[in-house]
Amino acid sequence: MTVSHILGYPRIGAQRELKKTTEAYWNGKCSRRELEETGRELRLRHWQAQQDAGLDVVSVGDFAFYDHVLNVSVMLGAVPGRFSAHAEVSSGNVDLDTAFRMARGRAPSGDPAAACEMTKYFDTNYHYLVPELHEGQIFTLASNRLFEEVEEALSAGFTPKVTLTGPLTWLWLGKTKGSDFDRLSLLDSVLNVYGEILARLATQGIEWVQLDEPALVQDLPLAWQQAYERGYHRLQSAPLKLLVATYFGSLGDNLSLATRLPVAGLHIDAVRAPQQVESVIDRLGPHQVLSIGFIDGRNIWRADLAALRERLLPLKVRLGQRLWLAPSCSLLHVPVDMEQETELDKELVSWLAFAQQKLVEIVTLTRLIDNRATPADEKRLDEATRALDARRESSRIHQSAVSARLVAVKPEDSQRQAPYSVRANEQRRALELPLFPTTTIGSFPQTNEIRAARRAFKAGGLASVDYEAHMQAEIAYAIERQEALGIDVPVHGEAERNDMVEYFGEQLEGFAFTRFGWVQSYGSRCVKPPVIFGDVSRPAPMTVRWSQYAQTLTEKPMKGMITGPVTILQWSFVRDDQPRATTCRQIALALRDEVVDLEKAGIKIIQIDEPALREGLPLRQYEWQSYLDWAVESFQLTAAGVANATQVHTHMCYSEFNDIIGAIAALDADVITIETSRSDMQLLDAFQDFSYPNEIGPGVYDIHTPNIPEVSWMVDLMEKALEKIPAERLWVNPDCGLKTRGWAEVEPALTNMVKAAKLLRQRYA
Ligand code: GLN
Ligand code: ZN
Repeated sequence: MTVSHILGYPRIGAQRELKKTTEAYWNGKCSRRELEETGRELRLRHWQAQQDAGLDVVSVGDFAFYDHVLNVSVMLGAVPGRFSAHAEVSSGNVDLDTAFRMARGRAPSGDPAAACEMTKYFDTNYHYLVPELHEGQIFTLASNRLFEEVEEALSAGFTPKVTLTGPLTWLWLGKTKGSDFDRLSLLDSVLNVYGEILARLATQGIEWVQLDEPALVQDLPLAWQQAYERGYHRLQSAPLKLLVATYFGSLGDNLSLATRLPVAGLHIDAVRAPQQVESVIDRLGPHQVLSIGFIDGRNIWRADLAALRERLLPLKVRLGQRLWLAPSCSLLHVPVDMEQETELDKELVSWLAFAQQKLVEIVTLTRLIDNRATPADEKRLDEATRALDARRESSRIHQSAVSARLVAVKPEDSQRQAPYSVRANEQRRALELPLFPTTTIGSFPQTNEIRAARRAFKAGGLASVDYEAHMQAEIAYAIERQEALGIDVPVHGEAERNDMVEYFGEQLEGFAFTRFGWVQSYGSRCVKPPVIFGDVSRPAPMTVRWSQYAQTLTEKPMKGMITGPVTILQWSFVRDDQPRATTCRQIALALRDEVVDLEKAGIKIIQIDEPALREGLPLRQYEWQSYLDWAVESFQLTAAGVANATQVHTHMCYSEFNDIIGAIAALDADVITIETSRSDMQLLDAFQDFSYPNEIGPGVYDIHTPNIPEVSWMVDLMEKALEKIPAERLWVNPDCGLKTRGWAEVEPALTNMVKAAKLLRQRYA
């Protein structure tokens, strides 16, 4: 029989119980015992869901109070010295508060220390804590949590398969600290601990351990490929079976490496890389299990069970008992349960599957290909087929006007009328800005009053006119403050926006919003991405009235503000029935209308935020160019409908541009504002080396801390920038939006920023 399993279940709980309890624990509002109890309840509930659905094994080891990569770091004793946890490590029992301090800098017990760095897990929106690696570091088994969870599952009567980040991927995700050295020099010591872990799991009676090795879908240096072989040869002696799990892409040039590893099984992603299945089977050893992920673990669409059955039957013939079925990757990346979406319309609901529904899909599919389908399975197959047929033909999805418009796009539509040098002159005349113009990134503090008004409005407790009036008053306040501060290019402050993607999605056709579609982003932070289900269009202007109103309150040029197409795409669940590029271009055309309407309304400066442009880069370098091509084109389509004198800005919250600077320049934004303050302007090197032609606002202070930046500090930073970029092309601004700060911090910070700009003007005019 075909084995059905999952690579991991979302840990947050259908009601975000994990978030609520961990936050309560951090704030001293619940005890450690209650926290542990919530963790236990969630684990048991999720195992029960897997068992009830009919999976053959349940996934143990996917739970974490904060992050599963952090769990492995703790288990290996990789706790940085600043957390003073030597005694805990050597006793083999690192405290949960120590893990929380690593994640957040502080915890109810223990001294605060600088938190570990956090970054995105491959190309997902999930953030993991980056392991800190030191030359000569020795690892020791420093936590029993995993073994306790295994015991918990066993004593509750479940059949566990343990999942754990693999040793090579763990090292790959780590960063060297102190000196720059070869991370692989630590492999032997890491493997010692993995060996110990596997031996302990074997004594607990565990048969299968899944080691997640998604690094195998990336471009690996030769030394890493060899280390995979060496590493897994060493783990071969473990007295249990290993399943190496790869996902998020194709094995590509690591294919024969992966299939040669001396392990009992391999998992591959057949959603992102359906074409690799046959070649993997060709190379697989005669006794190796192949777990195939045909159910999308990264998206929320219902699977086409009939098509998958057809696809799988010949594979079943080839693999027999060696075939396992699972979602493509851990279900961590999708929301928990669609049954809760009682407010979405029935039709849309019938197109979707969240984690809970995907469990059922896996089991149904398994029984279908094993010829042991129950009448209930046959019914599910029918329902899926009918829902998918309806979706393919639905008039809610296909808007002929949208496709016609896309077909009619001409190359010149994505080019501004004149090159930057010509535009810059026209803009200089139209805007009459001083040297080193000052501006901000768009949002001003989202105060409790603003949020309360929005909640009341959405709940029906505040009439639309009153809400509008409230937001106008907020805008007026923001303008008044900016006038008093002497900001050259004011913004309206984005008071009316809950979220930079949701705000637009709610007004565009083709988007839907769930109520409980939460996905963990990091620690207790969850996001609820919109669902793009159909062709995207803009029925009416979205931001124009706010910007227009704001412009009536000042003589200075108001900067209009929209979120760019790539960022909207990147932070949504995207339809799976057309290429991402097509969806992105549709969004771009809808936004283009907004940009043109802003211009018509008298707005002379328009900013198109693209903080997610870089994170959209594919995992494999050879795929970068085609992504960048359509991403850049989408931005240009959004921007290029305006006259030369209208100034287009873009903003990105990072500045690692070295490898994509060509694409950044190709956006051809008149001004780009970026985050540079934390790197001491070093990151401007990319712009200098490339001779970046347009204007830049290198963030002069870090908005992520409440500290008030000193004038001299900002002047120094700008002088560093001046070594690389001429004065006429420099702007002065913070490094991101100010929505998370309070006015008490914003006012003095901006006062100093304006002073810094004035000083610079005196010096360099
Ligand atoms: N305009 C947005 C703001 O200021 C930009 C946010 C972002 O870069 N993430 O809030
Ligand atoms: Zn930003």
